[in-house]
Amino acid sequence: MSTTRLTELVPGVWVATAREYDTISTVLLDGVGGAVVIDPAWHPDELAAIPADLAELAVICVAGVATHEHYDHVLWHAALGQVPRWTSRTTAGTVAAHRAEVIAPAAQFLTPDLLDLAGRLDPLADALLPWRGTPVSVVTHDAHAPGHLALLHEEAGVLIAGDMLSDVELPMPADDDVTLEVYLAGLAALRESVGRARWLIPGHGTPTAEPMRRYDADMRYLTALLAHERVDDPRLANPGMADLHAANVRRASAEQ
Ligand SMILES: [Zn+2]
Repeated sequence: MSTTRLTELVPGVWVATAREYDTISTVLLDGVGGAVVIDPAWHPDELAAIPADLAELAVICVAGVATHEHYDHVLWHAALGQVPRWTSRTTAGTVAAHRAEVIAPAAQFLTPDLLDLAGRLDPLADALLPWRGTPVSVVTHDAHAPGHLALLHEEAGVLIAGDMLSDVELPMPADDDVTLEVYLAGLAALRESVGRARWLIPGHGTPTAEPMRRYDADMRYLTALLAHERVDDPRLANPGMADLHAANVRRASAEQ
């Protein structure tokens, strides 16, 4: 029986969905035998399956990427190797300064060796992913978390959005975003990439071949909130979303 969990979304782009919160791990192949692993998740068996799957594909991990500072996006596995694990400069600084606090929630599901590997990140120097594949642009913004990054694989037309533009989670602003202004700025920063993408991979949920529909859904939700209108969004029915929505209503009512 095959243990392969990674599935090919488009040539050179593979995804695996973890059991918790539909968390998606993404792998980009550079075409010359290397793989970049983005936000590997979640449980020890699932983390171990990623390098096992890469071995079946006859590629080796050459780098990691963490889209943002949250504990479920800074995980790793020893079999992926000691390679650079890129993130934004802001995220690298935050995680280095507050690593224990950042990874604390992961202690309940990781083994000590995996916990030791979590949250060890390297700052990206510029807005292109330093790899041997075709150009991958890095788009950084402060919605959901300060220094959150998205990757746009130009040739494959795939946008890896991190915890933005999800079909299962409502917009989840960063703690210091008390008016939704920062979140809207983040969506604006992503707008052009969404328009150019043929596929979008969220951090939680399902990939879509209609990226702009996700963008429009988030804009519709936020616009209704800011206009103090009734919100009709199917994501409201998902676990935890009622509390998040209530917090977003408070944000929309705060002084700008
Ligand atoms: Zn997050």
